[in-house]
Amino acid sequence: MSKIMLSKRLEKVAKYIPSTTEVLADIGSDHAYLPCYVCLQNPDIKAIAGEVNVGPSESAQAQVNQFGLTNRIDVRLGDGLSVLEPEEADCIVIAGMGGSLITSILENGKSKLSNVNRLILQPNIDAQSIREFAVDHQYQIVDEQILDEDGYIYEIVVLEPSEDHVQYSDKELFLGPILLKTKGEVFYRKWRNVLQKKEKIIEQMKRSSNISEQKLNLFTQQTHWIKEEIGSDNS
Ligand code: SAM
Repeated sequence: MSKIMLSKRLEKVAKYIPSTTEVLADIGSDHAYLPCYVCLQNPDIKAIAGEVNVGPSESAQAQVNQFGLTNRIDVRLGDGLSVLEPEEADCIVIAGMGGSLITSILENGKSKLSNVNRLILQPNIDAQSIREFAVDHQYQIVDEQILDEDGYIYEIVVLEPSEDHVQYSDKELFLGPILLKTKGEVFYRKWRNVLQKKEKIIEQMKRSSNISEQKLNLFTQQTHWIKEEIGSDNS
């Protein structure tokens, strides 16, 4: 077998891997689809497929064996970036998890990031925590994507280390500094849905006797930001 079909989501993630990458680490790599695809496309890349769970790790190893890539892809069982040696990887992908889990994997493995030129992160939810990680650890957001696959909306956030302190407004952290510029149909759809949900929650909070003013103010502010950006445009 010499070809692998990636999901639209992982294909978009793969496009962000620089062709100059020497060692790609895919953390949370059940089936190792992404590293197999990348290694079949680019003969110069090596990869590490990290997995914390035995079953998915065995599936990843089986996939790597099937594609005859055992000399280029190392499947390693372990938590987050602990599977990496310091300075081993120069590009890291963490995809298909919640934003806060991705952030905690990066926080716990900070010592493994010193040689990394690019982090390609695909949170299923809570992309804001990724953007906050960028600010806290001096990464700039170099690109963002939003896409729909099988009715689910995913975001991709691409980070690179920055020389300077990076600053984004609270609104940019919430909606995405680049997505705010590019928007697009999926962006409008996602935020229309979020707006509806938040407005319902605000109504319920206002009726509640046990109201958290702080949460109410935050949600109200967020609904203002969403309205500012999607307006009545249904494109
Ligand atoms: N990255 C693939 C993708 O985007 O399609 C797989 C996503 S799958 C939903 C998440 C995978 O991450 C699971 O196989 C899970 O076992 C693994 N995982 C979760 N926490 C992890 C951690 N701390 N370190 C390594 N792998 C982890």
